[in-house]
Amino acid sequence: MDPRLSGGYLTVDLTAIQKNYQILKAEVESSECAAVIKADAYGLGASEVGNALYRADCRKFFVALPEEGISLRKSLPIDAEIFILGGLFIDCEDLYIKERLTPVLNSLDEIRIWSELAHDHGPLPALIHLETGICRLGLMAEDIEELKANPHWLDGIEVQYLMSHLASADIPASEQNAEQLDELHKLIANLPEGLQHLPVSFANSSGIFLGKEYHFNLVRPGVALFGANPTPGKANPMNPVVQWQGKILQLHNVDSQKPVGYGATYRTGQKSRIATVAIGYADGYFRNLGNKAYCTINNKRVPVVGRVSMDMITVDVTSLEEEDCKRGDLVTLVGDDITLDEVAKQAGTIAYEILTSIGRRCYRRYLTDGV
Ligand SMILES: *Cc1c(COP(=O)(O)O)cnc(C)c1O
Repeated sequence: MDPRLSGGYLTVDLTAIQKNYQILKAEVESSECAAVIKADAYGLGASEVGNALYRADCRKFFVALPEEGISLRKSLPIDAEIFILGGLFIDCEDLYIKERLTPVLNSLDEIRIWSELAHDHGPLPALIHLETGICRLGLMAEDIEELKANPHWLDGIEVQYLMSHLASADIPASEQNAEQLDELHKLIANLPEGLQHLPVSFANSSGIFLGKEYHFNLVRPGVALFGANPTPGKANPMNPVVQWQGKILQLHNVDSQKPVGYGATYRTGQKSRIATVAIGYADGYFRNLGNKAYCTINNKRVPVVGRVSMDMITVDVTSLEEEDCKRGDLVTLVGDDITLDEVAKQAGTIAYEILTSIGRRCYRRYLTDGV
């Protein structure tokens, strides 16, 4: 991709991701820290991000799909462990073995199929997922009863971790956190004898900040690595990672009140200047940010005015000096003092969705200090 041909840039600071990994590691002390880099590392590039984290000594990586695991396997050194959160997908079980992907076994069916494969291929590694209150994936209490009655279903499976997932970790005051922790302890105590003392993985980014009792043996942060605040309501302990910018295509000086954009939802003042920027909702800039969000040009805040179009936004730059805002200049949509969390809030969503929506039309560049 040629940056001159694209409407915008997504700059990913790999050094900041490495620093964030160190911050999270320090937070959990004795527990090991994995990295969740599903959905192409939340849109930032799984290969680049995975390798930067590998250089920061991360060896355990979680993705959602076997497809993501296979592609990551090609780009990471051979001793990286790759876990598939989505479980054992149908009709491709042998690919997990061939590509050395470790499934998170979410059901008794998956456990039985993996065990059968182990019969032919020798011991196979896996995680076992226990469902404690999010009702998505994992064994429930009655599955555990069945497993206890049929412990041979586990034959040949080397269970590395038991895991579960928090539903409300980003709401520290939610009672659900302690309830899920309690349920996890109960389910573990009820497992077949051989599984009761295995290492456990529970906390995502926000879970890490709920306290030591949530850390267990392996934590699984995702979004905090990429700069979003895992402690809503408190100062963000993470370093910013992304800068998202669009190019100014044209500037319009108007000397009377003029409607701007589809539906004429904004009217300029008498003497105004409007910049048209080559980023739109097709690039993941949410349509409902129109007339709400701000961006910066040369570190000065200016409002996004009128509706967001598919390929363009319009920005009222009347407050800027002409030489500070020219055709070809870059407008920062996320970065400088505009945080991911601020834009997410204005868009009525969360930082995760902003990150994963940033379009592939934006040219991606990576900053690293060489480590
Ligand atoms: C996505 C995901 C994570 C990471 O969550 P963050 O909130 O981004 O830290 C951890 N565990 C599971 C099971 C997930 O699906």
